[in-house]
Amino acid sequence: MPALPDQIIRPEILALSAYHVQPATGMVKLDAMENPYPLPQPLRDEIAGLAADAPLNRYPDGSAAALKTRLREALAIPSDMEVMLGNGSDEIIQTLALAVARPGATVMSVEPAFVMFRMIATFAGMGYAGVPLRADFSLDVEAALAAIARHRPAIVFIAYPNNPTGNLFDADGVSRIIESVPGVVVVDEAYHAFADASFIDRLARHPNLLLMRTLSKLGLAGLRLGLLIGRPEWLNQLEKLRLPYNVGILTQLIVEKVLQHPDVLQEQARLIKQERTLLYGHLAALHGIEVFPTNANFILFRTGREYEAGTVFEQLKRRGILVKNLDGSHPLLKNCLRVTVGTPAENARFLDALRASL
Ligand code: PMP
Repeated sequence: MPALPDQIIRPEILALSAYHVQPATGMVKLDAMENPYPLPQPLRDEIAGLAADAPLNRYPDGSAAALKTRLREALAIPSDMEVMLGNGSDEIIQTLALAVARPGATVMSVEPAFVMFRMIATFAGMGYAGVPLRADFSLDVEAALAAIARHRPAIVFIAYPNNPTGNLFDADGVSRIIESVPGVVVVDEAYHAFADASFIDRLARHPNLLLMRTLSKLGLAGLRLGLLIGRPEWLNQLEKLRLPYNVGILTQLIVEKVLQHPDVLQEQARLIKQERTLLYGHLAALHGIEVFPTNANFILFRTGREYEAGTVFEQLKRRGILVKNLDGSHPLLKNCLRVTVGTPAENARFLDALRASL
């Protein structure tokens, strides 16, 4: 008798539920922190030409040298820092976990945080320790230092701004954590374009700091490109775990092309930030809604005692609006929903649907 999958697959994998992606056909999609704007038509035409001429029968450049040069310029990456590319930053989180996954090693983050930190710890056979945020979602530095002393984490992930809460933590508090960790700290700046703050200048100060970015929230989620930035001592080791052709030729060519027009994505990010302020104001003015401050392209809000978040979520869905329901995912997120900032028209439809659902 051949073995059954549940006899072979690790119990902690059997116990996982897969990362849930909601069906979104025909919906106003405000659940996944995507940029709602398409690229301008002339750029799309150029991309069509690039795709038509791309040698798809060949493997892509395994080192993505031209793309990396372009990224260094566009992101002002310090010249003494190395860059590693991933198929989205998700893949980079996994590569990092694999690199440090000795028996008994622990991944640490805050809670609530991006769920993949915990999930990937499990993929890699590692322990996970989550340090609860305070009720206002600020970083509890003292609790983090105590947890570090107890768990001695091999790796700590801190998203800056944090997902799903949207806020930036106190940077000096994060630096204290970096200084006290026996392992490496990854500051995940997925929402950098909307934050006006970065740890990039602190790379020089902290030898155990790595910085992660992604192009997903900036407008290229479909291409899957994430970056890790850090000292060559770290990155040269991590490069050994990167799968040889993890960034496809279309991603390489198209990102290179789009980055030749840096103003396009920057202008879209500026529009999103402008809309964020308006959307925030409208949400804050609604009776029975508590809105949390955000430095990202999404807004977390609580539906309060009068309205169950789950009911509001379902009613929004019935009205064609897809957001993220976080109720039940963490005690601090009781009755919380998360909405991505969309176009002015999408945000107006969301607000109308929300008003009708309360
Ligand atoms: N980090 C954070 C904090 C995120 O919220 C996300 C996406 N939800 C990611 C990383 C992953 O992004 P990607 O794999 O698209 O680069």
